[in-house]
Amino acid sequence: MECDKVGDLLLTSTYAIAFTGAGISTASGIPDFRGPNGLWKKYSPELATIEYFKKDPRGFWEFYSLRMRGLFTALPNKAHYALAELEKMGLIRAIITQNIDGLHQLAGSRNVIELHGNIRKCYCVKCLKTYDSDTVLDKIDKEGLPPKCECGGVIRPDVVLFGEPVYNISTALEIAREADLVLAIGSSLTVYPANMIPLTVKEMGGKLIILNAEETPLDNIADIIIRERVEEFLPCVVDYIKNQTLHR
Ligand code: NAD
Repeated sequence: MECDKVGDLLLTSTYAIAFTGAGISTASGIPDFRGPNGLWKKYSPELATIEYFKKDPRGFWEFYSLRMRGLFTALPNKAHYALAELEKMGLIRAIITQNIDGLHQLAGSRNVIELHGNIRKCYCVKCLKTYDSDTVLDKIDKEGLPPKCECGGVIRPDVVLFGEPVYNISTALEIAREADLVLAIGSSLTVYPANMIPLTVKEMGGKLIILNAEETPLDNIADIIIRERVEEFLPCVVDYIKNQTLHR
């Protein structure tokens, strides 16, 4: 394993960040989108578009409530905990994530920038009242689909659907411009504009480490490529760093 190389880069960097994708949560039982067992092998991506939500909110919620229930039972895995530990050690300054599962925060990470929203929150499209997703799932059980607000408006998850602009991109790009090292973890790096984060770090002269099971379109500009499982590799980096700091 190349834990030592990555550990050394983290120890010598001044502003390292992590950019995470669905691959960091597969070990928590949440399928990714495009990997071999990805969600889009089973369902059509059209189900997660804003057009489909508007056209058929009931059909949208049939799919989405299943996805929500699946995500709610998931717990952080060793990769999430390793990143939280690296942040506590002062070696990771921010996590910019494409994930909507909230598992970084559950693992204890503090500075998490969510580009695609969070599945634990919902809001009414008419009056913008916000709801916990738990409350919305209860509503669905009691009142059926689609969930409706007391004002009569349809409730939707507070996540970015295909065809909608991402959240927090300017903050994320600002951070990327500051960073001298980015660890791109468990992402196919194919979703724009999220994949601008690792690209921007590189363009500004920083280093890019790609930790992903499969090839990505940014492999050709990466400084290090690691084809390991993230939940095995990241704890190994933490152990290496702990050893180094102990023996200093
Ligand atoms: P993606 O599915 O395109 O890519 C995930 C990558 O991770 C794949 O290349 C896969 O080979 C790799 N991978 C899977 N498990 C791994 C593991 N244990 N170790 C190492 N690599 C592993 O996902 P993406 O790049 O995040 O695509 C972005 C979209 O996916 C976003 O829109 C995001 O909102 C969404 N998404 C989020 C979740 C979640 O919140 N957990 C789940 C599915 C999809």
